Amino acid sequence: MRRRLRADLRGAIRRGEMSLSYQPRIALADGRLTGAEALLRWNHPAHGPIPPATFIPLAEASSLILHLGGWVLREAAREAALWPESAGIVSVNVSARQIEAGLLPAQVAEALAESGLPSDRLELELTETLALEERPETLRMLAALREDGIGLALDDFGIGHASLARLRWLPFTALKLDRSFLAHIPEEREDMAILRAIRDLSHALRIRMVAEGVERDAQRRCLEALDCEEAQGWLFGRPVPAELLRQRWQAPALAG
Ligand code: C2E
Ligand code: MG
Ligand code: MG
Ligand code: MG
Repeated sequence: MRRRLRADLRGAIRRGEMSLSYQPRIALADGRLTGAEALLRWNHPAHGPIPPATFIPLAEASSLILHLGGWVLREAAREAALWPESAGIVSVNVSARQIEAGLLPAQVAEALAESGLPSDRLELELTETLALEERPETLRMLAALREDGIGLALDDFGIGHASLARLRWLPFTALKLDRSFLAHIPEEREDMAILRAIRDLSHALRIRMVAEGVERDAQRRCLEALDCEEAQGWLFGRPVPAELLRQRWQAPALAG
């Protein structure tokens, strides 16, 4: 099955089976839309939708992820360039393989040039759980992207083993707290203490804190009281095709 899927993955872009969904990200203070995260979707002709947790690792096991990652950047930039400026930033998940292959700067430059999207409206999400070697070239590459105005987010913060070291090592602009920390708040006092510590850390480092996977209003209130800047989750909106997201800009601010 895995081998079969991997073979199918090869032609998936060409056959038009890949698309991006966008999940809104909002400012907790006023419910205003601050941007959206692009999430890759594969609609397999025989098996239907295949979750990224299944096919991204398959793509990462070969050089396919380089091609796929380049496509995601171009497609996300192309769609975001059509949004009003008030729609904010588009975040794109990037694989460690794109960084290690040294391809990321060229892929980003191409996506921005083709689309005309301003660099400060693009943010790259690097997942903390992926092994990323701390090489000087990597630091130089990401620092250069940052200097060009591109945002850098540390995704799934808190569940990897290198969280703190990595925060110090790379010029991050956002920290995306893994949703496992929110599952039991506000009831769980230990989780609340951890959230407070992460909030203090992000504020001290002047990195925006974004909570992922907010599903319940009690979680939202709790994060708001903690002074967490932004949030994403089903409570505010599921990932949707670009056309549906567009309707959100006309609608008044949610939450609050
Ligand atoms: P991620 O970047 O941490 O994305 C957040 C995931 O949480 C998404 O799953 C999203 O649909 C889900 N989610 C959002 N809000 C909620 C919520 O309130 N509750 C729950 N239970 N889940 C929520 P998705 O779309 O299945 O993506 C899974 C992972 O696949 C992503 O995690 C990301 O690591 C990876 N991925 C997705 N698209 C790409 C891509 O274009 N490139 C790369 N390299 N990885 C991607
Ligand atoms: Mg992400
Ligand atoms: Mg995440
Ligand atoms: Mg994740």
